Amino acid sequence: MAKAGVQVVLWDGMVSTEQRLANDLPLLALQAILDATACTYDADCILQGAKAKMCGICGSRETNPERCAACRPLEPQLSDWMSRTFITEQIVRQTIGLAAKKAKIAGREGWFKRTDLAEEVGSIMSSHLATVVATDLGQKIGRIETWCYGD
Ligand SMILES: [Zn+2]
Repeated sequence: MAKAGVQVVLWDGMVSTEQRLANDLPLLALQAILDATACTYDADCILQGAKAKMCGICGSRETNPERCAACRPLEPQLSDWMSRTFITEQIVRQTIGLAAKKAKIAGREGWFKRTDLAEEVGSIMSSHLATVVATDLGQKIGRIETWCYGD
């Protein structure tokens, strides 16, 4: 990263940039990010990847995502996730952050490795700037722009 001239950001809680976005952006923005990601790749793959990341943090005692009543299978709308018994907004945010960081897609780990998608995520974030000024993300926003658009 440093070698490529990209500024490294230390987020509160030492979370990844993906997790910082998922924690701090409004749910509306997370929905837009999920939609953009599902459009760029295969929607079913994206939702299955998210489901696999959700199990373990979903609050249910079942750790097998195939059997977990909370986690399977996820709908395209975050509001539908939250209508389930176990799934809180916090779990939705953790799941999106973890999946965006770690879920395998197109042979690579993480959703935003494609430049076009990273730019789209950046523009979604920009359109919600006013609502995140008080968050860690809002405080360090210049650096995340570097993450999205490069130097
Ligand atoms: Zn589960």
